[in-house]
Amino acid sequence: MIEIDLYSDTQSRPTKGMREAMADAPVGDEQQGGDPSVNKLLERVCDLLGKEAAVFMPSGTMCNQIAMLVQVRPGEEIICDRTAHIITSEGGGGAALAGAMFRTLQGERGIYTPEQVEAAIRPDNRYNPKQSMLEVEQTANLGGGAVWPIERLKAVAAVARKHGLKTHMDGARLMNAVVASGIAAKEHVRDMDTTWLDLTKGLGCPVGAVLAGPKDFIHEAWRWKQRLGGSMRQAGIIAAAGVYALDHHIDRLAEDHANAKTLAKGLAEIPGIAVEPVDTNIVFFDIGATGWKGADFNAALKPHGVRVSVSNERRLRALTHIDVPAAAIPKALDAIRKVAIRAN
Ligand SMILES: *Cc1c(COP(=O)(O)O)cnc(C)c1O
Repeated sequence: MIEIDLYSDTQSRPTKGMREAMADAPVGDEQQGGDPSVNKLLERVCDLLGKEAAVFMPSGTMCNQIAMLVQVRPGEEIICDRTAHIITSEGGGGAALAGAMFRTLQGERGIYTPEQVEAAIRPDNRYNPKQSMLEVEQTANLGGGAVWPIERLKAVAAVARKHGLKTHMDGARLMNAVVASGIAAKEHVRDMDTTWLDLTKGLGCPVGAVLAGPKDFIHEAWRWKQRLGGSMRQAGIIAAAGVYALDHHIDRLAEDHANAKTLAKGLAEIPGIAVEPVDTNIVFFDIGATGWKGADFNAALKPHGVRVSVSNERRLRALTHIDVPAAAIPKALDAIRKVAIRAN
């Protein structure tokens, strides 16, 4: 049995308090705007993000897909980092659904510069694809949970604006960035036209994400949500988990960050393991010098009750979350050390 699941922060289970809040939630018809618990969640997220309107979605992927569907016409281009989730992990949805082209930038840990954006801007003529959207990911998942500094967000957004592009933030782990930087969520998204929060990552909910932006954008987002079958009924049961998480699970992300730092420090002491920098709850490490291949290493961890995720043959990823208490870190490190040095 996997006791310490570092595969992802999606592996957390709803807590007792969260389940109670869900059981007690007043509900109505979400599809008709009549679910009080969903409406409460949307109000809370609008406040938190300083946005005009919001809509509850089944997943973060649907938030990204609908943002692209509303703002990008077929043949138009999106500028983003080459490691962006919309490139690597959404089944090619940006192309399949919105018909988007992607111009990828080679950022550092998923974070690119205003100069790179400026250099990627194409002249507005009949030969070039029209460029419609700039996308950033806060925190940058494959960048190792790196936090975009506010000034950098402002700078890349300013270049986008100057050239008439919309700005979209994939905020799957925005609250990790908020806790790590000590800067309010509103400030992170001030220059973003559209953004969203995932409830199922560090916030520990079973289902859902909230997409936010201007009223007219949310109006169109609703049309796509209806078309794609994302409209719900008594969704207050799951939205109540979101409200509970906003009340109880934000400040505690600091514990996940501290645990990730402890894990990284311990990993760095294991022969053959090299650790990437850690800003939040994501720890990437390279096992190449141990002689192990990624999937075999993870399989060898299993009897120890530990699981990580395999990015490629050398690069593994461990995430901390609400179901990984501080006491689990030395145990995980012990298992990883034993496997790395092939001890029994
Ligand atoms: C998990 C994740 C998503 C997708 O969210 P789901 O709720 O799993 O669909 C999008 N972007 C990033 C950066 C993520 O980590």
